[in-house]
Amino acid sequence: MIALPKGIDMTLLQIHPRQPDASVDHGIQAIVAGISTTETCNTDLAAGPWDFDARPGYGPGSSMGDVIPTGAPRQGELPAEYREASETELHARITAAKTTLGDRVVVLGHFYQREEVVTHADYVGDSFQLANAALTQPQAEAIVFCGVHFMAETADLLSRPDQAVILPNLAAGCSMADMASIDEVEDCWEQLAEIYGPLDAADADGLVPVIPVTYMNSSAAIKGFVGRHGGIVCTSSNARAVLEWAFARGRRVLFFPDQHLGRNTAKAMGVPLEQMPMWNPRRPLGGSAEADLGDARVILWHGFCSVHRRFTVDQIATARAEHPGVRVIVHPECPMAVVDAADEAGSTDYIRKAIAAATEPTTFAIGTEINLVQRLAAQYPQHEIFCLDPVVCPCSTMYRIHPGYLAWVLEELVAGRVVNRITVPGDVADPARVALDRMLAAKP
Ligand code: SF4
Repeated sequence: MIALPKGIDMTLLQIHPRQPDASVDHGIQAIVAGISTTETCNTDLAAGPWDFDARPGYGPGSSMGDVIPTGAPRQGELPAEYREASETELHARITAAKTTLGDRVVVLGHFYQREEVVTHADYVGDSFQLANAALTQPQAEAIVFCGVHFMAETADLLSRPDQAVILPNLAAGCSMADMASIDEVEDCWEQLAEIYGPLDAADADGLVPVIPVTYMNSSAAIKGFVGRHGGIVCTSSNARAVLEWAFARGRRVLFFPDQHLGRNTAKAMGVPLEQMPMWNPRRPLGGSAEADLGDARVILWHGFCSVHRRFTVDQIATARAEHPGVRVIVHPECPMAVVDAADEAGSTDYIRKAIAAATEPTTFAIGTEINLVQRLAAQYPQHEIFCLDPVVCPCSTMYRIHPGYLAWVLEELVAGRVVNRITVPGDVADPARVALDRMLAAKP
């Protein structure tokens, strides 16, 4: 049994995930303390993430299918004063540091961050909203991105060269983004050229054989690859518009890293499943037959989000049985069967807006990361809002950003030191910006 972090107020722990307390961490502490009978996917989530920083891996709560790449950034040891501080002390120190820094710093908080971090964010949103929010703060010398590594890279791509983008914990990667490495994608591209011929040669209709499309949840190196090869970036909000852009320029699309977003979007556009072969980078020709690749409209990379893969059709059936009239909304990173069984599917922004727009008290079962679901439940007490998955299991990499790290990077800035800066090299950044610009131009 792990020890509870110092300074936890036990009266805060008496919550249940379906009650409107926005703090998932309090819920997990309550489970570990035996106060709550709810389940968590891993009781080690109650510990400070620094307990796991020195070990390779995504930390407690990650899926067995998540394999961290060799060379993934590791975080050095957080000084003891931050590891041992109480939640209340860290809150006060972060607040004081932000006050001292004023508009020299902007703090960005992803929807999936812990409540104890989001409460300090100047902007809360999805990765692309946050990168754009940083653009509205030209006076900021530092952008502290409370999210994961690819998000900080995207903010660096879009910010001025003199603005430092800081990721409070370097171990906060994204297992989905890591499923498509630049070497694997380059290798796939070479194999596809052997099947389709020169990939930059347009046919009589002006279409090239393949347009690469990457989800925002990918490394800057992958965005750069896409930019160099006539491709484009998409988000979960604009995936359909981006695929339309790609089909206007190519016979087919290579979509990575998230197979589910690719499949769900293409299926909704009428692409038959048999024209969506999978590309598993560990197998020759991605594990697909050459004939299937020849007929393909969308080649789906074998990637997935371990958080959204947890949602099941059975959970939806249970929600419907226990809550007649429930409105089920899931994220398009969920498997196709889950999206098909839900009432609606949409991005985090879609989910948030759908709940905000509901005028009558409604029961919502939501299939996305639990920190966002709990926050929405607290924000809209007139509705009953709960996570489809009854097991409390936050994104294991988002979880690595603890208030202790936020306090550390901010107090280092107060002392005139920039730590944990994320910088994308120019030869990667230039084509990556091209791919992002194409997305902005394609946006409906
Ligand atoms: S929720 Fe999924 S896609 Fe988002 S950061 Fe976590 S692992 Fe990556």
